[in-house]
Amino acid sequence: MSDVELFAGIKQKLIEQNRSTEDIALIEKAYHYAKKLHEGQYRISEEPYIIHPVEVAKILVDLKVDTHTLIAAFLHDILEDTETKPEEIKNLFGEDVLTLVQGVTKLSKLKFKSKEERQAENFRRLFIAMASDIRIIFLKLADRLHNMRTLNFMAANKQKRIAQETLDIFAPLANRLGMGKIKAELEDLSLRYLETDKYFEIAQLVSQKKAEREQTVQLLIDKISKDVKAAGINAQITGRAKHYYSIYCKMKRQNVAFHDLYDITAVRVIVDTEKECYEVLGLIHSQFKPIPGRFKDYIAMPKGNLYQSLHTSVIGPRSKPLEVQIRTWEMHEIAEYGVAAHWRYKEKGSEKANNASDLQFSWMRKMVEYDKEMKNAEDYVNSVKLDLFSDQVFAFTPGGDVLDLPKDATPIDFAYRIHSDVGHRTIGAKINGRIAQLDTKIVNGDIVEILTSKTPAPRLDWLNFVVTKQASSKIKQWFKKNNREEHIELGKSHLEHELTKASFDEYMKQGEFEKIAKQMNYVSAEDLFAALGYGETTLNKIINKLQKPKEKTIEDKFHTSNKKKSEKDIVGLEGLMYSFARCCSPIPGEPIVGVVTRSKGVTVHRIDCKTLEYIEPERMMDIKWAGTNTNKTYTTTIRIETGDKLGMLKDIIAAVSDNNTNIITANVKSRNNIGIIEIGLELDNIETLKKVINCLQALPDVFSVKRIQTSAQTAAPKRPNNGKQKFQKKKTK
Ligand code: MN
Repeated sequence: MSDVELFAGIKQKLIEQNRSTEDIALIEKAYHYAKKLHEGQYRISEEPYIIHPVEVAKILVDLKVDTHTLIAAFLHDILEDTETKPEEIKNLFGEDVLTLVQGVTKLSKLKFKSKEERQAENFRRLFIAMASDIRIIFLKLADRLHNMRTLNFMAANKQKRIAQETLDIFAPLANRLGMGKIKAELEDLSLRYLETDKYFEIAQLVSQKKAEREQTVQLLIDKISKDVKAAGINAQITGRAKHYYSIYCKMKRQNVAFHDLYDITAVRVIVDTEKECYEVLGLIHSQFKPIPGRFKDYIAMPKGNLYQSLHTSVIGPRSKPLEVQIRTWEMHEIAEYGVAAHWRYKEKGSEKANNASDLQFSWMRKMVEYDKEMKNAEDYVNSVKLDLFSDQVFAFTPGGDVLDLPKDATPIDFAYRIHSDVGHRTIGAKINGRIAQLDTKIVNGDIVEILTSKTPAPRLDWLNFVVTKQASSKIKQWFKKNNREEHIELGKSHLEHELTKASFDEYMKQGEFEKIAKQMNYVSAEDLFAALGYGETTLNKIINKLQKPKEKTIEDKFHTSNKKKSEKDIVGLEGLMYSFARCCSPIPGEPIVGVVTRSKGVTVHRIDCKTLEYIEPERMMDIKWAGTNTNKTYTTTIRIETGDKLGMLKDIIAAVSDNNTNIITANVKSRNNIGIIEIGLELDNIETLKKVINCLQALPDVFSVKRIQTSAQTAAPKRPNNGKQKFQKKKTK
């Protein structure tokens, strides 16, 4: 059939389905557009390429999918096979259609490498997760179905691979979605290429028994039709062979030859209401003896994929066993088209579909929940974004294996999932062919390639971003086993750094670390240091345990020993590493505050330091000077503006030295006839600094003397006001 004839058929169906003229016009536009783009392209069968998208659309019309899905069916191969830009699709048919086309294109790139059932399951999940919209799966299934129908044009080895993939992935996918008709056809077509002999044997025997089957069904109809009519029931009764693949499975399962297989025929009764299903069941059971144990009520208890029917087997006409399925038209539709039919009911806003109790997709429970809440079809489609596996990501090895990982997993997690040895030897990673940071979060469908070195060398900082238990425990294990000496040293040096060498030694002497080690379930202090070294425990955990007993003992020591007093100049920072902020260089006697830094312990700032404006309050610590005489010296910088007079520096140095203060840096420059002298001072407290400043201000030709604070304050050393004030001040003296 030509594509023109095929399309005419589609159009006829669209009209029968009462689609709007606008929608039909759009679909026709998509057909002509695709036809033009695929012009001159041919399939392996030597048919014009356009036949394929039209056939795909035809499959989807029977599923009664929405207009956008149908448009996408015509366009589904143009991104891949023609030069068309996504923008063009968007402009012509809108964003929704583009999303669908891109979704199908993306899924087409997935390559399935058959290995084991678990992998197939993962692949199906990946597939669903990546589809992001259930209509993309409809498109993909229709695409696959037509490709399977035309598989005979492919090379034999390709046929087998594609058929296996269909059987492993697409048929179960269709089954899960309750799309029984597509599932059965996919299975039969797969069987044809995978077990060709068996397929044709079954096909032949089924057709040989066709006459017999029809006779059997006719006898059954004859026997019950009077009663059915008398009950006022409008029933359609048909008899058909089960599909080949199910016969094949039965033969395999029961290990019997085809001739011994009695129930290849199924009688199907379709009625209008649920009540009538049970009535017909009663009528059949009253005429034919039911076989015990074969009755199943899938109406009261639907299958996980929405399927509903009554199943029974009876000793039929001619005393042959016969399987009977009884269902309503709606159940029939759902049995054939599954979620597509259900979704369609939503679109029509049918009353029946609102009765959501029959929806029991166990793995799609979420979808059903949405379903109850959603009012219209559009919401429904939007909500069925299939984020069912949102806590999981699926990624590929370059060889095509699928690994499922928790959300936010990184290449390191991926590497350890492959093998701990791969994890240990990781030095880099490529995601989709590009070098990526090792802490990159993997997203669905990423192809992750792990770059390894010959020697294992995991890194402790990986522990900061890995999310799988497997990775973190393997990393820790490795560090535990290897480099014990190094880790002890590393742990020790962390502690020395944090506590100062002197307090560390003091704690060591007192046996504090041994005690803490026991508390934390380590055998010895060395084990504790090692654990700290390889990152199994943290500085905070250890120091928190130290602080309590320590405060008293050490404070006592300070009071008794003058020599050590210099070590404690600030109250509130006991046992912590700290330093003085350069921006404001605080000095004993002025109010201070501690700021917790990421890596350098606590920084001590003046309370009026401008930089504090940008610090979160939770990082600030309440601290104060232990006193004004701490036996320590502190540095701070002052800026002196002077008349540009030779010899000025000498006077300044003399003034500073007179006040028991050292100059540690000096920087002299001159600008617009003003000398600017910045000197770094080393002194004991704020009182001394005040004296120094007063002395300097008293010098002739000194305009101003100020503490330097980086950022805000240094920006405004303008002369006029300041200078004059100082001048006046000086004169009044
Ligand atoms: Mn295609």
